[in-house]
Amino acid sequence: MRSWRPANYGPLSADAGMTTDTGARLPEGAPIADEIREGVADDVAAFTAAQGHAPCLAVVVCGRSAPSMVYLDRILKASAAVGIEGRLVDVPGDDPVTQAEELAAAVRMLSADDQVAGIIAQMPVPAGISIRTVIDAIDPAKDIDGIHPLNAGLLRLGFEGFVPATAHAALEMLERSGAPIVGAEAVVIGRSPVVGMPVAFMLAKAGATTTVCHSKTLDLAAHTRAADIVVVAAGRPGLVTGDMLKPGAVVIDVGINVVDGHLVGDVDFASAREVASAITPVPGGVGPLTNALLLAHLVRAAQRQAAARGSPAGNVPPATGPASATGPASATRPASNA
Ligand code: NAP
Repeated sequence: MRSWRPANYGPLSADAGMTTDTGARLPEGAPIADEIREGVADDVAAFTAAQGHAPCLAVVVCGRSAPSMVYLDRILKASAAVGIEGRLVDVPGDDPVTQAEELAAAVRMLSADDQVAGIIAQMPVPAGISIRTVIDAIDPAKDIDGIHPLNAGLLRLGFEGFVPATAHAALEMLERSGAPIVGAEAVVIGRSPVVGMPVAFMLAKAGATTTVCHSKTLDLAAHTRAADIVVVAAGRPGLVTGDMLKPGAVVIDVGINVVDGHLVGDVDFASAREVASAITPVPGGVGPLTNALLLAHLVRAAQRQAAARGSPAGNVPPATGPASATGPASATRPASNA
């Protein structure tokens, strides 16, 4: 079992979440997300019974930009639905200097609060405020979306830590598609710290020969045509078309774009589905899984923190992998989301 898999919430049958038609299989995120949420709800109930309080997710917002509020609101609603306590912390203000100080103070306060198991902050942070403001203040043990350098470094080194939920969702979709990963040629399009690079490190660790492409890649199609697995996270609608794919390739489309009022991915779905053996739809593919996995990370963080304090937390799975061999999770070493 690989370190980023939420151990208590799988495996599903190989066909779970798949629809099949005459073209490629279309792995759907929603049924997998439902199953993960059911497992999370069970763990939350056990945690709450053992601790006398629900695990708490703190969501920090700055300036309330409309798209990120929609995203964060969805997470809070999904948290409530599985029994997780949501705490919205608003950092108002117009002056970036003052707001950055208040943002750092809010994240530090939540990091020090034993009742809070996990913290996420609105991304992107408003113009004039550096993401370092959050990174420098967050306890890596509560960094359930894997932005802290300690978690990023653990992933890079092949140890357990929190990985960004979107990258985790992309890998989960790939695994559930049943595609062989070991020995596969994989191309990741996008090298951002939240999606492209974590996906690439996970694929490499899982045994795929992995190439990272980006906006300076000279001949993107030459890379994708040689790939058994293509993960696209570029934010460019229609970037990958069917003629750029190897027949039978498995395509994970992470992109979310609005075109003519409709949500579309980065892959030209109509042409790609004629060539690929499986392709995740947008909407309905990776997206629904991302939120469910964030909740799985939260409950895992809560369990590990409770275990580190020596208090019972219900169902705490054993940590696996080299990072856990030296002892239990602690406040200075991030909880595993294995
Ligand atoms: P990002 O930070 O803007 O990174 C985009 C990456 O794509 C960059 O590495 C960029 O290359 C590369 N790129 C851009 N144009 C390209 C081109 N023409 N050819 C090849 N590579 C190109 O975006 P992100 O945060 O990683 O997000 C990527 C996509 O995933 C977006 O559509 C976003 O909305 C979506 N997303 C989805 C979820 C979800 O839950 N499904 C969550 C988060 C994000 P350079 O590095 O050279 O600039």
